[in-house]
This record gives sequence, C-alpha cells and structure tokens, in this order.
Amino acid sequence: MSSIIFYGTDQYTKKNLSYWLKSGYKPVCFSDSNERISDVRFPSTKNSIVESFEILPLPKAIAQYPDYEIWITGERSNWYNMREQLLAYGISLERIYHADCRIEPSPARWCQNLGQYFVIDAIEKRKYYYCCEKNKQLFISSGNIEKDIFEYNNICRKKIYDLQNGNPSSCDGCPSLRFGISPEEYPKLTRFNFSTGLIGGDTCNLKCIYCSYRQKLDSNHDENANEDNLFDILSYIDKMYNPAQLYISYNAGEITVSPYRDRILKLWKKTRWRGQILTNCVIYNQDIADLLGDELIDFNVSIDSGTRETYAKIKGADCYDKVVANLLKYSKANRRIALKYILLPGLNDNENDYNGFFRIATDIGANPVFLSWNYGDKAEMSANAVEAADRFISLGLYTGLNITVFSSNFPKTSRAIIDSLVTKNKLHSGVEK
Ligand code: SF4
Ligand code: SF4
Repeated sequence: MSSIIFYGTDQYTKKNLSYWLKSGYKPVCFSDSNERISDVRFPSTKNSIVESFEILPLPKAIAQYPDYEIWITGERSNWYNMREQLLAYGISLERIYHADCRIEPSPARWCQNLGQYFVIDAIEKRKYYYCCEKNKQLFISSGNIEKDIFEYNNICRKKIYDLQNGNPSSCDGCPSLRFGISPEEYPKLTRFNFSTGLIGGDTCNLKCIYCSYRQKLDSNHDENANEDNLFDILSYIDKMYNPAQLYISYNAGEITVSPYRDRILKLWKKTRWRGQILTNCVIYNQDIADLLGDELIDFNVSIDSGTRETYAKIKGADCYDKVVANLLKYSKANRRIALKYILLPGLNDNENDYNGFFRIATDIGANPVFLSWNYGDKAEMSANAVEAADRFISLGLYTGLNITVFSSNFPKTSRAIIDSLVTKNKLHSGVEK
C-alpha cells in the first residue's frame, strides 16, 4: 500500500479523523496549504482523543514518501480548490483522492458502471451523463473539461460514499446495483462516449425510422459551428489518459459525412485509442478500414434487413447494395464486424429478410450478430413478435453464427421472455454501449 499523506487540517478533518483511522487508514503525516501552521502536530496534542501526526510542508512530505497518495481531508466544498493547489505543485491526478471516497467499508452496495462512463451529449449546452443507464443521471458542463471531469469524479465519489454507507441514493432500485465487495477500485474513468449534438455539423446520410438522434441531426446544421468544444475534450483525453486503459465511443451522427471526419480519424490513428466509431457503411472510408485492420475499433453496423426494399423502408434511402458491397470491402481489413438486426414487427420479421441478412452475415464472417429492439418503442411484444425473435435466433444458430441478444433494449416485461430464449439457446446477453 502507498504512503498516505492527509492534506488539510480544518474542522471537517478534526471531526472525521477518528472515523478514517478506525477504518484502518493511517497517514504517514499531514500537510496543509498553510505552511505557517504553528502547530507542528495535528490534531494538537492538547486534549486530543486520537493519535496526532506531524504536519510537513508538501514538498518535504512528498520527497520523504515518494510512493505517496494524497487524500484530501478538508471540507467537501473545498475539494476543487485543494485539488488545484496540489496540481499546481505538479502532483498528478492519479495520486489525488478524497479521504471519504478512498475508504471502502465492506461489504456494501456498488455498481460497476459508477464512475466509469463519461457520456457527452448536448445541443445548446453541453451535458454529461455519468452512468451507462441511458440518459439517467446528468449534470451540465461548466465549459471547462478539466473542471467537469473533476466534478464528475466528485459526484461519483459522493454516490459511492452514499452507497457504501447505506444512505438513500438515486441508484436505489437500479438493476445494475450489486451487494458485496466491489471487484476493483473506483471511480475509474475509462470510457468516454461522444453523442450527437456536442457541436454543430453532426449529420447523417440516412433517416432510420427509429433514430433517436433525428431531431438533433436535423436542427444542428450550423456551418459556422465551433468545433473547439470537441477538440478541446479530445486533446484533454489525449493528454491525461493512458490510451491502453481507455475506450472511446464516437456516436455523433455518421462519421463519413461529418465535417470533422478527417481531423477525428487522423487523431485516432495518432493516439491509437481503442473504441468504436459508428458508421452505417453507405460510404467506404480507407482510414476507418485501417483502424479496423489495426483492431483499434469495434465495428457494429445495423442493417436490420436482408432485402433492398426493406432496407429502404427502414433506413429512408435506397442504398442496400452499396452497404453490402462496402461491408464486404471492410471485411477484407478485418473479419471482426458485428452486424445488428433491430427487430421491427411488420417490417423485417419475415423469412426473406432473415435469409438475406444471414447470407451477408456469413459472407463477411460477422461476429457477433446482435439481435436488438427499438428501445424507443416501449410497448410490450406481441406473441408474434416473440415468435419472430425465436425464429431469428434459430436461423442464426443454424448458420453457425455467434448470436448475442441486447435483452436490456427489449420492453420491460418482454425482457423476461427474451432472457428465457437466451438461456434456452445458450446465447450471450449483452448490454449495448
Ligand atoms: S446503479 Fe444504476 S443508476 Fe447507479 S451508477 Fe449504476 S447503472 Fe447508474
Ligand atoms: S444511421 Fe444512425 S444516426 Fe443515421 S439515421 Fe440511422 S440511426 Fe440515426
């Protein structure tokens, strides 16, 4: 375990010190921004009911304990300022924690998503979501990404603290909540997800009938849009995070028609981020093929049909043949393409489409094939729709393909039926990211 330096000697620290010590975390010393503190020990040895510790000036403390971690022990409202002071001393973010969040009483409630996802979504004001439950919990950006990530970590740490201490939480009732000892230290931000609307100019060359971004895509054609927001964030991620521990999803419209396409793809090649870039494959792009060939991106294409007519009805454009030809071309770079089928009763739940779809999936060696549902459609599935899902799975298994079902996208009650199909057929059940 690293040497723990407690930073801050205010009333909050005094009040909580016995709790932190009782939890088994003992600092090697204290430090404080006020280097003129006359007390050389904290708490003052007079009348103190807990052990007291030496207060060292910060440069001396970190020189004396090079394997240090710094735990801020000051009042919560001062977290940001105290952390700024530490950064100004050249201490890296990875070494800075708040004492309340570092201590993990166990067992406790925990969630593997908490503190891991940073979802960036906006149209007028930049907004962030901080867990994977779709659109569930958000805060508004201050306009400064560094400050926002710090705020994000604080929100998550506070949530973790509430979960660990049995306090009421907005996570109560969420199916992702677990009880036990969390398998790893958190919050640990490893996923950035860029959604449509961060900057003007996000666009798409299709009009899928289920597209939840449509309104944003239609209202967001500002040719003078300021792209700084996007590239500020991307360059901050590049500067601050280890690419080997990151996963970036770029889901802001269709990348091949984005005005920022070349800049984004060039940066991606340079940083060698891992992640996913959504494309509908209407246009082939050599940079994307290169990233795919280098296994830097996951490739997940939703075609939802196996005939030209159905594709045009669902996607709003007659380009099925082009998409199939491009998929074949991409599969030469890498046969790790995931092909998705969003089941749309009355439109694509027929043998012709299933057969055409599985023919393409086989030709490109799709792995896996995702079966999903339009999660904007909350109506429960009819008996026919359940049968159609069952038939899709049977045909897929017959062709020897690896089928994964995004069961959490299915309507609430129907999910149990879909899960039983997953179990019966020994399939994987995934969560769409
Ligand atoms: S428990 Fe649910 S709401 Fe809470 S962080 Fe996890 S996924 Fe989000
Ligand atoms: S390809 Fe994606 S972004 Fe474009 S319309 Fe379809 S769902 Fe929306």
